[in-house]
Amino acid sequence: MSSIRGSMRVLKGVCLAKSRESDGTVAAGESRSIRDIGEIPMLAITVEPARAASVELSTVLEPSLLDGTVLIETVAVGLCGTDIEIVEGQYGTPPRGRDRLILGHESLGRVVEATDGDGFTEGDLVVGIVRQPDPVPCPSCAVGEWDMCRNGRYTEHGIKELDGFAAERFRIPPEYLVPVATQLGHLGVLLEPASVVEKAWEQIHLIAGRTQGQPQRALVTGAGPIGLLAALLGVQHGLEVHVLDRVADGPKPELVRALGAAYHTGTVREACPEPDIILECTGAEQLVSDAVAGVAPGGIVCLAGVSAAGKTVSADIGAVNRKMVLKNNVVFGTVNANRRHYQAAADALASADPAWLDQLITRRVPLRRWSDALHAQPHDVKTVIEFSSI
Ligand SMILES: [Zn+2]
Ligand SMILES: [Zn+2]
Repeated sequence: MSSIRGSMRVLKGVCLAKSRESDGTVAAGESRSIRDIGEIPMLAITVEPARAASVELSTVLEPSLLDGTVLIETVAVGLCGTDIEIVEGQYGTPPRGRDRLILGHESLGRVVEATDGDGFTEGDLVVGIVRQPDPVPCPSCAVGEWDMCRNGRYTEHGIKELDGFAAERFRIPPEYLVPVATQLGHLGVLLEPASVVEKAWEQIHLIAGRTQGQPQRALVTGAGPIGLLAALLGVQHGLEVHVLDRVADGPKPELVRALGAAYHTGTVREACPEPDIILECTGAEQLVSDAVAGVAPGGIVCLAGVSAAGKTVSADIGAVNRKMVLKNNVVFGTVNANRRHYQAAADALASADPAWLDQLITRRVPLRRWSDALHAQPHDVKTVIEFSSI
């Protein structure tokens, strides 16, 4: 990984505005502002998807109004496994006609510029919604449920065909911005992962509605940021929550206990026999298999972790089928979030203990040391790259 000094270069021909010409000039007929004409350079963490070790700190041009009327100064960007997969060349798609993608989908920023009617004013804290609907649109995207896109042609900031938020500034249409309560401050960077968890719980409750009686006990597998936020929401929803992870030390056990939940190592069966809900957040093949086998009659297994393909775990599919049929079980997958989930997540974070949320962010790395953030350290929970102070 190169250092800030060694890796900085101007990306020639990178035009962040969708319809700019390849030399960076503004096409005739485009609306212009002073900022637009100025072509202000800025720093951004960029990567060439599908090419490992291509990540660098680049100088790119500030996006134009074509990317959205709201201009945001980035405060912080959170990192997760998806970013690491993109950096390792396993995932991600650059914007059309480009080689490089600006990284970052977990954002927190401050509004610098907005037009009348955007609903935002200078200084507002905001988070950008990651996914934008497909252009067709499919029946889900047509009603704002792009997290349930049916044709796969959605785009995602920092992941799929849209530049991410790991830049000093970004632009976005106001309908893809979520306001963050001022008192949440820098903790607002947790909103995107919390939105994913909020959607998972929404789906669980929808499915739980098919049986009489509310679920009482939930097991969360994996005490990373998603698992811990899932535990937080489970406790907020009034459930008895158990969390299973591999590690016995570091901050995770205490973070779980501080919620009033129980922390376990070992197996699914040892942690919590026959819970009503299992929220699987690791994607670890054995845990997925154990979760499906271990849930209570009428129970729900929510799969929220992504596994790498190609690793096999032997499973008796006949026994799995028999158990699921005879116990009326549901196993389902969930990913991403729509505006409703971001808003619910903002409420959930606002009612959580800020000191507890603060402990989830175990490393804050300034932009000048950005590459340090990409190297996992023992006991990391959430690592954040800081672009500017609040
Ligand atoms: Zn993420
Ligand atoms: Zn769609």
